[in-house]
Amino acid sequence: MSLIKFMVAGERVEGAGQPFRSVNPATGETNYEVSGASKADVASCVEMAATAATSLQWRNLKPHQRASLLHRIADGMMSRAEDLAITQSRENGKVIAESRKQVSNAAAVFRYYAAACETVGGELTPSRGDYLSMTTYEPYGVVAAVTPWNSPLTMEAQKVAPALAAGNAIILKPSEVTPTVAILLAEIAQAAGVPAGIVNVLTGTGRETGLELIRHPKVRMISFTGGTATGKLIAQTAAERLIPCALELGGKSPHIIFADADLEAALDAVQDGIFEGSGQSCVAGSRLFVQRSILDEVIARLQDRVKRIQVGMPFDPDSRMGPIASFQHRETIERFVASARDEGGEILAGGKRPDDRELEKGAFYLPTLITGLSGGARVCREEIFGPVLVILPFDHEDDLVAQANDTDYGLACGLWTPDVTRAMRVARQIDAGTVWINTYKQLSVSTPFGGFKSSGLGREKGLAGLRLYQQSKSIYLGGMSI
Ligand code: NAD
Repeated sequence: MSLIKFMVAGERVEGAGQPFRSVNPATGETNYEVSGASKADVASCVEMAATAATSLQWRNLKPHQRASLLHRIADGMMSRAEDLAITQSRENGKVIAESRKQVSNAAAVFRYYAAACETVGGELTPSRGDYLSMTTYEPYGVVAAVTPWNSPLTMEAQKVAPALAAGNAIILKPSEVTPTVAILLAEIAQAAGVPAGIVNVLTGTGRETGLELIRHPKVRMISFTGGTATGKLIAQTAAERLIPCALELGGKSPHIIFADADLEAALDAVQDGIFEGSGQSCVAGSRLFVQRSILDEVIARLQDRVKRIQVGMPFDPDSRMGPIASFQHRETIERFVASARDEGGEILAGGKRPDDRELEKGAFYLPTLITGLSGGARVCREEIFGPVLVILPFDHEDDLVAQANDTDYGLACGLWTPDVTRAMRVARQIDAGTVWINTYKQLSVSTPFGGFKSSGLGREKGLAGLRLYQQSKSIYLGGMSI
């Protein structure tokens, strides 16, 4: 069986850590073995990244030269688009059309930060004497980027592009479930002319490779996307080491339909918002709040829609929902649905694996609708990260806001009503980093993204996403008579 080696300073390396298997969740077959990075591998990678980060060749790159490198990475991604999309879908089972869309979005992230390199400057601050005072923004040095399995294409581009634009070296530690998109990205960066040691990838488990990486004294900043429990552990390490960390964590986002909403449009969004990517999206609208007067109609129409969602192989163009990304994660989802049954919930659709024999070897699970629970039920409080929608009624705005905010999370929210005044009033009261009004899951690289409460710290994307990877330095230039 082939062994995938990770990438350090432009070289493919077979690590001394424990190798692990990448499994195709649609078939249960092994894709390949992947090399694990040991403590010594991590140390040598960080040393090389630290040397590369401080090299004059990298530090003194002019903004337009840095921008052109980022554009070349975007070009490289587009020329290897199919390779990237197939790799992601083979490892996490995402339907191929979604992976293809994510490649173009990921390339666009590099173009956005290329533009930022050339247009975002420092500041001349008001001087209180005979000097010039200015603020410049400098890289941290070595950034450790730890990523999850649901959308490695997007998550990794969102970290690599701004980290490079800001002048850092980066070491990616991708999820064990999706280990190789990051390696392809590092190869593309190398082919684009990024100096050796600036983009590196270490594969391995979180508790070994990931933890070793974030503990290394020469790692000066951590950028993490993943679950809230892991995020808290990462924050503890960052606190002990007194280094900044950005955390993009889980969600339990409310999706709200008022009685006056355009129901067809709202239901399209509700359906995509929870079932796209088999619900394995941090912004999945997993709690659906429906104004009581339209509850029966919404339930009936959703049941009808869910029956028609084509669950199938990721590479079949007719499939709308692929498998769950791993067999282990499907078991977690099954335990959640069992807990809903135990707590008195009514399963209106799904709640089981498909009967289709063609799919029985894969980690498939049907789109699931649950009702009859209160907001205190486990499936209403904890992130399931699967194709499970819980439907909850509300009577009026105050009751709605209280229910929607009754969660530890605060990543996103969607709401549907043509009444703009009400929409804005509710949007301002919801504790979430992103609120969508009469749309859902619209994401733009120019607009900051991140969570309130247990959904995270810091903002990726936009210019905030560039500053995340920089520290400010104030310079006073004296001897000036102005
Ligand atoms: P996870 O927290 O289990 O793992 C994420 C990454 O952390 C993996 O690479 C893993 O190997 C690593 N890791 C695990 N323990 C570690 C440790 N002690 N030290 C260092 N690294 C460690 O998350 P997951 O199951 O891969 O992904 C699903 C989660 O990601 C969901 O909660 C989802 O909401 C979240 N997510 C959030 C966003 C966002 O932008 N807010 C986006 C996508 C996914």
